[in-house]
Amino acid sequence: ATPTALLVGTGRGAQLGILIKGPQVLESTRRVDTIVLDKTGTVTTGRMTLVAAVPARGVAEDELLRLAGAAETGSEHPIAAAIAAGALERVAALPTPESFASEDGLGVQAVVDGHLVLVGRPRWLADEWSVTLPAELADALALFASRGQTAVAVAWDGQARGILAVSDVVKATSAAAVAEFRRLGLRPLLLTGDNEVVARAVAAEVGITDVRADVLPAEKAEVIRDLQREGRVVAMVGDGVNDAVALATADLGIAMGTGTDVAIEASDLTLVRSDLVAAADAIRLSRRTLGTIK
Ligand code: ADP
Ligand code: MG
Repeated sequence: ATPTALLVGTGRGAQLGILIKGPQVLESTRRVDTIVLDKTGTVTTGRMTLVAAVPARGVAEDELLRLAGAAETGSEHPIAAAIAAGALERVAALPTPESFASEDGLGVQAVVDGHLVLVGRPRWLADEWSVTLPAELADALALFASRGQTAVAVAWDGQARGILAVSDVVKATSAAAVAEFRRLGLRPLLLTGDNEVVARAVAAEVGITDVRADVLPAEKAEVIRDLQREGRVVAMVGDGVNDAVALATADLGIAMGTGTDVAIEASDLTLVRSDLVAAADAIRLSRRTLGTIK
């Protein structure tokens, strides 16, 4: 491959809304046979809204929203933004947490009005904090999951206090992009920290059958390495802090333009319009560019 032809390729990439780190990237793009897609913010818009709040017996809905909303104000996660905004619509003002910490891909913990409040993955609350859900909350959780909605648990002072459900929509172009990946001979796989039922619902909507759900941020890179050990050449598309290591591990890391800086820095390509169709364009472009040189 002559440098000139490769640079022509990168120039064409810019026109298509694809930022390429360097001409050498096109070579790995050409060999890719598997494409791993993060769910939230990549296949879906990542703009979540709060759709339901189910308080535990004896808990007022306003109190659930006030404490959970306050705890989430410090987090940049799309789920946090949805919960804080949804809570603010219901209660006039949210108290400022006295302390706050977030656990990537798991949830948040904050001290609000003297209560230690937890909002996050139900399994994280159970495993790390020994907070188990009473039957009525476990039922609510299963119901939301069956609808493809993401449900998180809320606890304070060591007890489960409610379930909040948030919902996100699949981007308009995601299904067309997946069809295009298949035409290019790529095997698509959906990778997410969200639960299996929600992940399957989103996957079905865009035409993906291979799903890895409930994956912790640290395990995302491990999934990529396993595929590479099978001899696959892997592209990974993601947007979040929790995707950064996987993006760097993949043979080709592709970041959404709307993604976090760490995701963009860890990647080889950035899709300016955050549209997965541009990822298919990039792969077609690199094959064509390198094909004409050979
Ligand atoms: P994805 O892989 O789809 O981008 P994440 O790894 O960011 O998802 O999050 C995985 C799960 O962790 C979420 O579905 C949610 O249950 C929980 N979680 C992460 N951050 C938060 C938060 N700020 N508030 C509540 N739950 C959270
Ligand atoms: Mg994401």
